[in-house]
Amino acid sequence: MTMEVDILEISDRSAKFILSNTTSAFANGIRRAMLADVPTLAIDDVNIYDNTSVLYDEQLALRFGLVPLTSDIVDFIPLDECSCEDTCPACQVSLTLSVEGPKMVYSGDLVSSDPKVQPADRNVPIVELKEGHKVVIEAIAHMGFGKNHAKWQAGVACGYKNMPIIIINGCDNCGVCVDKCPRGIIHLEPTGAVVSKEDLLKCSLCKLCEGICDLGSISVKEDERSFIFSSESDGSYTSRELILNAGKVIKDKASRMREILNLL
Ligand code: SF4
Ligand code: SF4
Ligand SMILES: [Zn+2]
Repeated sequence: MTMEVDILEISDRSAKFILSNTTSAFANGIRRAMLADVPTLAIDDVNIYDNTSVLYDEQLALRFGLVPLTSDIVDFIPLDECSCEDTCPACQVSLTLSVEGPKMVYSGDLVSSDPKVQPADRNVPIVELKEGHKVVIEAIAHMGFGKNHAKWQAGVACGYKNMPIIIINGCDNCGVCVDKCPRGIIHLEPTGAVVSKEDLLKCSLCKLCEGICDLGSISVKEDERSFIFSSESDGSYTSRELILNAGKVIKDKASRMREILNLL
């Protein structure tokens, strides 16, 4: 059976979908790729020409490093994988900032040399400048991986759970499980207790209903081949791009593995 993807919700920054006919190893591979292996651009070096703000240079640089930048997995490559001799527009992007107080410095004050690479959110506060304070910097962004530093982590709050399977048989409509369910998803019908298809997605697999039923009428299991997935992007990519890039990263790794094995 081929793997199926059923999108439940998708927006610019978040997605919820069901992955069916696959293994927990693959689901976990997608989760890990989103968190650790999809490369993004982040500020990695900061040349500070003037800083009379209340922050030390190092604190200021750290804050710039954590600003998510819009990235492209095709156009940019990590510095150590680039074939250029030193640096080039494919492995390095320069952003400048020159601000004088009184003013709050925001991520949106960064001016990028590449129109495709912009702060994903323009309203991230960096430092408040008082009268006469000044910050003048050049920030250098490189492509990197979440497994090396959180500033390169494209996916946030990415996780999954097994699809619940709830089977109800021989129910006498006592209603005890209805009151016990912390998610309030069990309802009584003339034919017995039921959980609707939509409500099934809200089940936490706590099995309290199963434990409280004296008749043993309700059973809760995990579908070992179906997963409810939630993911959020930090803004480096849209949630759709993040999912596709996670798949691409896994596919590229598998291709490399095949090439290596073919050489043996
Ligand atoms: S499943 Fe069990 S606890 Fe729930 S209503 Fe039926 S008999 Fe009662
Ligand atoms: S397993 Fe827990 S959340 Fe799911 S239906 Fe039973 S009591 Fe409710
Ligand atoms: Zn290069």
